[in-house]
Amino acid sequence: MTENPAYFMDGETARRLEVSLTYAQKSIVITDRQGSCISTWDVAGISTLDKIVPAKAFVLSCAKRGAARLRIEDEQTKAWLFNIIPSLARRYEYKKESCLAIKLSAAVVLIALLGYLAFPLIAKGIVQLIPADYENEIFEGAGIAIAKEFGAKRACVEPEAQAILQGMLIRLIGDEKAKSVSLMVVDHEMVNAFATPGRQVIMMGGLIDKAMGPDEVIGVLAHELGHVEERHPMQGVIRGAGLTFVLSLFLGGDWVDVTSFLAETSYSRDNERDADRFALAVLGDANIRTLGLAAFFERLDKENHTVEKVLQLVSTHPMSEERAKMIRAQTGGAVSMNASQWAKLKNICSKKKTF
Ligand SMILES: [Zn+2]
Repeated sequence: MTENPAYFMDGETARRLEVSLTYAQKSIVITDRQGSCISTWDVAGISTLDKIVPAKAFVLSCAKRGAARLRIEDEQTKAWLFNIIPSLARRYEYKKESCLAIKLSAAVVLIALLGYLAFPLIAKGIVQLIPADYENEIFEGAGIAIAKEFGAKRACVEPEAQAILQGMLIRLIGDEKAKSVSLMVVDHEMVNAFATPGRQVIMMGGLIDKAMGPDEVIGVLAHELGHVEERHPMQGVIRGAGLTFVLSLFLGGDWVDVTSFLAETSYSRDNERDADRFALAVLGDANIRTLGLAAFFERLDKENHTVEKVLQLVSTHPMSEERAKMIRAQTGGAVSMNASQWAKLKNICSKKKTF
């Protein structure tokens, strides 16, 4: 059995490693499943911003360890940590109203268990039962929370660049729909973009930085908007977090617990195909050429072997040959913006704002 199990995020990649924690010389030693030491955290530097609530996970960071995080879910690990780090125990709060999900009657829990096996199949149907407004309300701020899990601290807010990006959003999906989408670029070198429940799209600065041209960025944006329109992020949450989570939503729970899970939600092949189809349709309508989307994914795929960090976009939206073929089959359209607009967009992280 793993001693003091926890999850380790290195702050640079989207990976979440299962690790085991031990104590030695005033430090927490973090070891992976193979028994190799990954990092050592000085106990004096360990802290959490979370309130520590019974039956809920919390996330630890450590001074001098940058954006790396430890996520603690296991109750025994929590108790063990409280012993070693008394300041953590002081953040422990008995907040009764947060325990609603646990108070579900035995019957409901039984139904939840029975439903669990069939669950992935019906996630799509369940999403239809959750009103979009309610989803938006519950998941407000989810994009920033996930970006923080990756170690991002600031949004990129250079006004001219923001206006260009917003203009592209409107060009792709129209004024009305664009209003309901929250699009943000965050200051992080990772080449990644993701959609969250509540119609949020987060682009990492690295995506704009590493793109060869504007069509690549706009193509990825169109693809993410496809996930948004099809409500794939919410489906992903339901598939991954299960029925009890849905029940807790209806009982007034919150999304904080699923943040780190969301960060690594992967979509099914069907989801990817649907998002591509949507992207191709809106790019076509906007008369923007689609080659950028295929080129970008393929280039990242090639770099796969050398630059691991660049791969996050590919690993969360795997590009199959079939996908590339479908995207490449649609030709026509023009460049999405001129050189001066592109230069301005590239400058988006020249002005930053702390979350
Ligand atoms: Zn995707």
